[in-house]
Amino acid sequence: EGRDHLKRVIFMADTFDEECDFLFKAVLIGDSGVGKSNLLSRFAKDEFRLDSKPTIGVEFAYRNIKVGDKLIKAQIWDTAGQERQKYYAAELNNEHGFRAITSSYYRGASGAVLVYDITMRSSYENVRKWLLELREFGGEEMVVVLVGNKCDLDQSREVEKEEGKGYAETEGLCFMETSALKNLNVEEVFLQMITRIYHMTRQKNLA
Ligand code: GDP
Ligand code: MG
Repeated sequence: EGRDHLKRVIFMADTFDEECDFLFKAVLIGDSGVGKSNLLSRFAKDEFRLDSKPTIGVEFAYRNIKVGDKLIKAQIWDTAGQERQKYYAAELNNEHGFRAITSSYYRGASGAVLVYDITMRSSYENVRKWLLELREFGGEEMVVVLVGNKCDLDQSREVEKEEGKGYAETEGLCFMETSALKNLNVEEVFLQMITRIYHMTRQKNLA
């Protein structure tokens, strides 16, 4: 099963075999259609898709980042596949299977990007539900960035920026609005998460 995952991996880093100082796993979560896959492909290879494919065949992507003199490799997981598998487990009424799939997705993750669509109120209402899952399966120490995506569609906005920002503050999350389409703040979201994880890990190792 793990091998199957690997087959579908795309390695964005051309220096994959190079030694790195730190390797982190982070996950993308949020309702279907909010733009998770496009945010990841923007960050990993600067691409955007207009069609809404439920999966673009990416399970995870790598990017190398330099912080100071340290080389950090970020492994970012997309829910493609997980969504489908969870659906089937739920269809079969297999609570055990459902939990196993969910926990394998979060296992070892130090960070999460929780995405909603600013033009779809329901995706924002569901953030609470995603946070519950995250806190149950992902542990307490994760770095979480709440992202309001599709900020290029301001005329169809259903969630005010201040609202998302205020909620993130009460929950202790970082916050940003992005546009995967216009490539706004995408790089910033991932870089903020990765540098925070890096500094947290370093502090822990020094303590
Ligand atoms: P996912 O299901 O969360 O992975 O969402 P996708 O990345 O597949 O995107 C769903 C749909 O929203 C696609 O039609 C995308 O083209 C569109 N989309 C994604 N990000 C943006 C964005 O920033 N702005 C606009 N206008 N559309 C977007
Ligand atoms: Mg997707």
